[in-house]
Amino acid sequence: MNGKLILFWDFDAEWGAERSRSGGGPKPWGALEFSCTERLLWVLEQFGVKACFAVVGAVALPGSRPYHDPGLIREIAAQGHEVASHAMRHEWLPGVGKGNLRQIIRQSKEALETCVLQPVTTFAPPYNQPFDFWERGSISLSERREVSRDRVDLGFLCQVLQEEGFTFCRVAYKPLGERLLSYRGYRKHFFPRIEIIRGITTLRVNAFGFRTDTLYLIDHAIEENGFVVCFAHPHALSGNGPQSESHLIPFLERVQELVSIGRLEIVLPRTIMSVPLHKS
Ligand SMILES: [Zn+2]
Repeated sequence: MNGKLILFWDFDAEWGAERSRSGGGPKPWGALEFSCTERLLWVLEQFGVKACFAVVGAVALPGSRPYHDPGLIREIAAQGHEVASHAMRHEWLPGVGKGNLRQIIRQSKEALETCVLQPVTTFAPPYNQPFDFWERGSISLSERREVSRDRVDLGFLCQVLQEEGFTFCRVAYKPLGERLLSYRGYRKHFFPRIEIIRGITTLRVNAFGFRTDTLYLIDHAIEENGFVVCFAHPHALSGNGPQSESHLIPFLERVQELVSIGRLEIVLPRTIMSVPLHKS
């Protein structure tokens, strides 16, 4: 038995900081995304860990920090990490309108591919939204309340991604049954299965940051042949929350140990080719 780990770094920069939806308006960490990424690349190299950086497309356009730095994005790719799209300007996709969605996806892919000179085939939506995906019993009341017309749901996003040449999307919808169980205190964790949505390979996120809950998940993934799909933000390395460097280092030590004894495999989304268990 062995587990699989996908490590995502969401590179929001000033685009995400200005559009923060976490309350309190714009955030001051836009510039930190760049300096912390430089540090992070060094740390990942020490541990021999490859990750997937989901980058806001506009960062790859010519210009200067805290909005742009194509050289740094090229450096990420040059070190063997995957560069994925995190939309064009950190848009909240449920509300962009179906017509604009394609433009955003296309512009982002083009900006990133022009920068790194490699195909960009993985997508990680900003805010991990849309959550709404009624075919799997995932109804987002807040998305439905906030966007009354022309709302982008997860099915439509995947359809456009597929048409625009993507193969993988990180998703975060939660089926109704699972939501009810979590209200009752059951299933605090789960292991996602690879599911094909409109021709796109998807995996649901099940970990955030590097505290003991993520380590616990990794130990159980080994027993259950499961995926750990973890995400964090480079700028938060310098803080003291779950994404901080003080949590990252022990996490990477454990990962390195498990990889060395063949119990854990680090996977990049672009390499995932699997027989689908579910289609829709
Ligand atoms: Zn983001």
